Amino acid sequence: MNAVPKTTAIAGVFDHPEFRNHETVSFVCDPATGLKAIIAIHDTTRGPALGGCRVWPYGSTDEALTDALRLSRGMTYKNALAGLDLGGGKAVILADPRKDKTPDMMRAFGTYVERLSGSYITAEDVGVSPSDMEAVAERTAHVRGTSATGLGDPSPYTALGVFEGLKAAAAHAFGTSALNGITVSVQGLGHVGYDLCAHLHGAGARLIVSDIHAPAVDRAVAAFGATVVAPSEAHAAPADIFAPCALGGGLNARTIPDIRARIVAGAANNQLGHAADGAALKARGILYAPDYAINAGGVISIALARPGEADDLVREKTLAIGATLAEIFRRAEAEDLTPEAVADRMAEERLVRQD
Ligand code: NAD
Repeated sequence: MNAVPKTTAIAGVFDHPEFRNHETVSFVCDPATGLKAIIAIHDTTRGPALGGCRVWPYGSTDEALTDALRLSRGMTYKNALAGLDLGGGKAVILADPRKDKTPDMMRAFGTYVERLSGSYITAEDVGVSPSDMEAVAERTAHVRGTSATGLGDPSPYTALGVFEGLKAAAAHAFGTSALNGITVSVQGLGHVGYDLCAHLHGAGARLIVSDIHAPAVDRAVAAFGATVVAPSEAHAAPADIFAPCALGGGLNARTIPDIRARIVAGAANNQLGHAADGAALKARGILYAPDYAINAGGVISIALARPGEADDLVREKTLAIGATLAEIFRRAEAEDLTPEAVADRMAEERLVRQD
């Protein structure tokens, strides 16, 4: 009989620090296409779990799992706060979107989404393009944000909602929602960041931009006459508003002391490194727009868009993000809480009440 191999301590999903009673976590492997993915379904109280698929070259499986667990829970709260009859889920594919991603890999991902029988509905996120989602849709109907299921790319609605949220934050902090002459540091000039810059430029704001991808920076400079800073300096730029639109975790003990803006409001998911970082922003008198409240425009479009129909309802719900944030800021000030604590409370109220 073979000796039982000794095992080192392998952290299980149930013991993972980000595990919060997630209903299902699936690990997917398809050697033929190189697909390795994690699909996390957090909560289906309000309906099927809707959340995007992210493709990223994670340094480890644990990094990817951490992202999947955090982001899927965030989708439960986001969908509830946006008033949608949907639960929260998220998929992460462990691959470099510029080198490894292929249509075959995305089709294989679609096959595994199909096997979840509709309990998870996928969509676009970082590292995924509308054409990738069309490949996924060849294998499953449980995909949104494709031309066949609705309005296509959700990013313009995310950008519109962030723009409305930014105006609500300006109204609360500066007493006016007019953005002309206001300086905004936009970190990350991808699908959402670039469109946000267009809205801000149209409203007369001055732009400071940054991205790790040089052509994205050149494009924003050419289109908006933006000033450039290094991505690592975006938070410390001399701006009235800092808009993180790249990846999460950018607000932390290292960056918060250097933030010069009075408002932090942007599209990135999971902007706070830790819960204590929200308290640190509040202590510094910086108004923070909770990420999942301000960036809900994309998921609203994915959930409510119907093929061939006008986008009136989607726009109406997306514009309402401004009112939701105004309410969050008002309650936070009245109750001396952080805005994210109030947003969580409002989402949890909706998880129970099913309204
Ligand atoms: P994207 O992949 O199109 O763009 C991200 C951009 O950030 C890229 O240009 C990338 O080069 C850049 N970037 C990466 N790391 C950076 C860094 N350290 N500093 C500066 N730039 C960096 O993604 P997107 O769709 O625009 O999404 C941006 C953020 O908004 C993500 O956090 C995403 O999860 C979130 N979000 C997006 C949507 C949507 O509708 N697309 C909806 C909700 C939330």
